[in-house]
Amino acid sequence: MAKGIQSMKVLVAGAGIGGLCLAQGLVRAGIDVRVFEREPGAGSRYQGFRIGLDGLGLAALRECLPPRLHGLLAAVTGPLTGERRLVDPQLKELRQLGEVADGTAADRHVLRQLLLAGLGDRVEFGRAVVGYDELPDGRVEARLADGGSVVGDLLVGADGVGSAVRRQLLPGAEVAAVPGNALLGRTPLTERLAALVPGAGTLVRGSGLSLLIGRMEFRRPPRLAAAELAPDVELPDADSYLRWVVMLPEPLGADAVTWPQVRDRLLGLINGWHPDLVELVRRSDTGNSSPLTIRYAEPVAHWGTGPVTLLGDAIHTMPPSAGQGANTAFRDAALLCRSLTAVHRGEAQLSSAVEEYELRMLDRGFAAVAQGLDRLSEFVPAR
Ligand SMILES: Cc1cc2nc3c(=O)[nH]c(=O)nc-3n(C[C@H](O)[C@H](O)[C@H](O)COP(=O)(O)OP(=O)(O)OC[C@H]3O[C@@H](n4cnc5c(N)ncnc54)[C@H](O)[C@@H]3O)c2cc1C
Repeated sequence: MAKGIQSMKVLVAGAGIGGLCLAQGLVRAGIDVRVFEREPGAGSRYQGFRIGLDGLGLAALRECLPPRLHGLLAAVTGPLTGERRLVDPQLKELRQLGEVADGTAADRHVLRQLLLAGLGDRVEFGRAVVGYDELPDGRVEARLADGGSVVGDLLVGADGVGSAVRRQLLPGAEVAAVPGNALLGRTPLTERLAALVPGAGTLVRGSGLSLLIGRMEFRRPPRLAAAELAPDVELPDADSYLRWVVMLPEPLGADAVTWPQVRDRLLGLINGWHPDLVELVRRSDTGNSSPLTIRYAEPVAHWGTGPVTLLGDAIHTMPPSAGQGANTAFRDAALLCRSLTAVHRGEAQLSSAVEEYELRMLDRGFAAVAQGLDRLSEFVPAR
């Protein structure tokens, strides 16, 4: 494995929010990076759901992003503060679930576009990584689905829950699905619906069904904010919305396939609930609402460090219940970036820097998985 190298080349599989955050940090540090993404283009799939960032996740993201984009990041995120509350289906408060002091709401799609800023042709779309070969000189050759290949000093698998890099590196690593059925809905924010989430989040507990609602309220419309604050960055038009997740103990059945069918079945299940909750489901956006499989990674032991490593959901996929997946991916990215910067400056060897990253990343990542599984019981309704 190469060491203390100033011309180090880093290959990243996956241009999700974790892989792009790493790429931004490496470019900032003057390190050569290429990112390979399976999807054909940046906007080919709308990935817009709200994610909640905590102080540490946001700090890691800002550490990697160039300072000129910090103002734009602040403008296109929203507040996420106040009480999380538990209510009954008539919106009567049952109890408070804890206060969020310093949260930030971000839309994953907008964030991903922002994270592409300035990376140019360092990100190659339509080029899935299918595997790799470790070379005798310690470097790694990534194999691409289009038949191409590329050699680097380090390959970082940031290719999400179905990671091809993880499959080869850790063939025994398992990702499990939480039993039951979840739905992910998105509804445009109106004044009436805004009242459903006065604080950081609202959990509605019905019999056999629970509904978790969060608010994504952009401080400024993303496209306009980019035009004013960083005209070279193109952000999409996106309106504020409520993001909600429904947990059902049983699947909805084979005849609920399209979103209108799923929505109508759900409307039947919440018949008699407060009219604002019915309105929330009735007005859900067909293009951005869907069934959701909640997955989590079983813990893995540290492997022998080589020229291939992992980051984010590719190694520690977790249920969204702890709100830590993106936060942890950003913290992985910032940590790995710091380690690689030390190598780039000749202050550390590549293998020991990567090993140190892996040990801390595994500890933190799997602690967050465990926390997400613990908190999932808050959301899963009794049968
Ligand atoms: C409903 C929901 C709510 C959530 N809420 C929160 C929250 O409040 N707070 C929070 O911190 N987290 C939250 N998360 C989790 C968060 O979205 C993820 O943890 C985060 O997106 C992980 O980032 P990543 O870059 O590791 O993976 P991803 O974002 O999944 O990116 C992986 C990328 O790799 C690409 N790819 C896949 N295979 C290949 C291949 N073979 N070759 C090349 N490219 C490939 C994919 O197309 C994708 O672009 C939530 C998740 C869900 C589903």
